[in-house]
Formats: sequence, structure tokens, C-alpha cells
Amino acid sequence: MSTFYGPDFEALTAQDPEIAAVLLSELKRQQTNLQLIASENFTSPAVLATMGSTLSNKYAEGYPGKRYYGGCEEVDKAESLAIERAKSLFGAEHANVQPHSGASANIAVYQAFTKPGDTILAMSLPHGGHLTHGSAVNFSGKWFNVESYGVRADNELIDYDELREKAVATKPKMICSGATAYPSLIDFEKIRAICDEVGAIMWVDAAHFIGLVAGKAIPSPVPYADVVSFTTHKVLRGPRGGMILAKAEHGAAIDKAVFPGIQGGPIMSAVAGKAVALAECATLGYQKYAKDVIVNAQALAASLEAEGMRAVSGGTQTHLALMDIRSTGVTGKVADERCGQAGIVMNKNSIPNDPEKPGITSGIRVGTPATTTQGMGVPEMKQIATLISRAIASDEPSVHAQIKTEVHALTARFPIYQA
Ligand SMILES: *Cc1c(COP(=O)(O)O)cnc(C)c1O
Repeated sequence: MSTFYGPDFEALTAQDPEIAAVLLSELKRQQTNLQLIASENFTSPAVLATMGSTLSNKYAEGYPGKRYYGGCEEVDKAESLAIERAKSLFGAEHANVQPHSGASANIAVYQAFTKPGDTILAMSLPHGGHLTHGSAVNFSGKWFNVESYGVRADNELIDYDELREKAVATKPKMICSGATAYPSLIDFEKIRAICDEVGAIMWVDAAHFIGLVAGKAIPSPVPYADVVSFTTHKVLRGPRGGMILAKAEHGAAIDKAVFPGIQGGPIMSAVAGKAVALAECATLGYQKYAKDVIVNAQALAASLEAEGMRAVSGGTQTHLALMDIRSTGVTGKVADERCGQAGIVMNKNSIPNDPEKPGITSGIRVGTPATTTQGMGVPEMKQIATLISRAIASDEPSVHAQIKTEVHALTARFPIYQA
């Protein structure tokens, strides 16, 4: 049996064959399909092992050296390592490594800097923002007065003039930048100047791109922002979880907001996994990876354009591309389904000013973190673009079955999690 599952996989199989079968078929799904979801990656076996460790059993409410429970000497070492590695990797003054997820990290940011009813200014969801940036169905939209900015109609880049005008007019407590489907870089210097002009806290939700910052492939928001929240499982390639970096003056407020503000005990197995991932991110190998992710995303976007689709905002400077696929005559929803049948996993996505509803969309979002971890490069991105194009163009199950065979042949050349 593959060592990847750990020594207890046979025990799991004997005790709970139904769940053991899920683990096996999920591994096979990840190994054989093309994983183009921009927020997903393949974390290292070392991180996986740490997440599946006995650290999961430990209650450790509080912070290293200041816990509410006994027996925290060992987990204290793991959390202190994670904090030190985060501060050093990002040049941050303060780090909190306890948030259970990106959404939890964001709730803690609101808790630290705002009261219900305060005004915040964030990127609108249909232009790429996140649910936790003020969506009506999210706590953020219900508890805060949310003003939003978007992208310009002409170049689909953030409209900094609109951002500044809204900031001046509405005097927000916080200005949030960062998005889930924005392929370009964000001008943090400009946003800092606007925050200073109106006296707002500068909050960057770097969930999607922080891994590229860690790998020194794109500029960092850390020198500019009061607070930077993010997930650790996207390009960063760590365990599922969240993290917050802040200026020293906000450190106490952030720590109080995470615990006891919004969480109880941290998931110490994940905290230790974050330490392992942060050490991986500090290597030259990871820095090369981060650059390759962008090169691959640019190649994939250009190749999809060669297939007749249009890259929103003229291409990508990050790990993801948002493609306007109206020229194919097919909606994002149908494209997503057809690609899924062909073993290509990505998601439908609204494009700016999308004429279709969010459940249908005119676009697809493709990302390269996972395929780049597998070792794929520019030639494979070109091949993937033709596979996507062929899958979208047909509603024939036999065509999708044929593409799936080609997908399996491709992924077999770039194996992951081998024994
Ligand atoms: C992914 C993401 C989140 C949420 O992270 P979860 O771990 O899924 O809660 C928050 N903000 C942005 C911008 C994201 O991309």
C-alpha cells in the first residue's frame, strides 16, 4: 500500500471500508484528471503527514506560553516556529497562524477593526471580490454597510479613480483589496495613499496570490497594508487554513480578535502544517515554482485566446486566467460541465458586467498552481488549451470520452503522490 496514506491506511480499510474507498478514489481522481481550479494545489507529503498527526488531539486555546490548557509545551514549539517562519518569509511585524480558514481570518479582521454598521469599501463580487467582502448572503453584507468598487469597462483593470471617489465620499473604516478572480496585479501603493487620505485601515485579502508573493514572483502587499489575511492552501501549497499578518501596532488587536474573539482552540495539526509549508516556501525551488506558475498561466491564457476565447483584462500576471467564452456560443456552466466530462476540472466564472446570471456565467476561470506542482510546463499548457477547446465545442459523450483518454495519458506523465 502506498506510504502516502500513512501506516494506518490498512487499519482504516479494515475498520471503515466505505471511507477508505473514498480516500482511494479521491486520490485517483486527483492523479488522473487535470486540476485547473485556481484555488487548488497538491500539498507536499510532509504537510499531509503533519495534518494527519496526533497534534490534532491537542487543545491549545491561547497563544504560545499563554495557554488555557496544560500540556502545550510541544504544540507551543510548532506554533512559535510557524509564527517566526511567517514573519521572516514575508518581512511581517506580526503573524497570527491560528485562523481555521480564509473566511475565519477575514471575520477576525472585521472583529479587530470594525463594529457592526461600520462602512467598508471592497471590490464588488461580480468583478472578482470574495463573499466575505460584503456579499448580501454573507455575514459581511448583513452586518456592515458595504460600498464597492470594480474594474474599468475599457481595460477590465481596477478602477482606482472610482475607488478613491467612493472612499472620499463614504469615509470607510476599512478598504479591502484582493479578489478571487482578478488576473492582474494590484497597485498597493495607490491604495495605501487613498487609505491615508481618508483615514481607513488598509486590509489586503491575499488569499489567492500570497503564494506568488511568498515565492518572490510578484510584489508584496505587506510593506503597505495594515493587515493582510490569506489562506494557506492555494498557490502557497500548505495545509487547509488561514493566516493574518499585521503591523506591530495591530498585533494585540488581531490576536484578541482570533482568540477569544471568533475562535476557540486552534487546529494544531494545521498550525504545524503551516510551519512546514512556510519552510518549503523559503526555498529556491519554491521560488522557481512560483515563477513557473505565472509563465504557465500566461501560456494557457494565450493558447486559449488562440482557440478563439478572450482573456479578461488582456491576459494574466498571476496564477489564473479569466476567459470570456461567449465566442464559443456556450455558457460558462455548459463549458464547465463538458470539461468535467472530459476529465478537465475548472470552474465557470462571471466576467465583469456578465450578461448571464452567476449560476450560468459567460466565463471560465483556469489556474495553474496544481499542474505546475506536477511539473507541467508551457508545451502542456498549449495541449491543455486545445483539450479544453475541443471539450467545450462538443456535446457528444464519445468526444468527451476520447478527450478523457488524452487527459489520462497526459497526467500519467506527471504523476503525483506516488508510493
Ligand atoms: C479563498 C478565498 C477566501 C476564503 O478562504 P476559505 O479558506 O475558503 O474560507 C477568502 N478570500 C479570498 C479572496 C479567497 O480567494
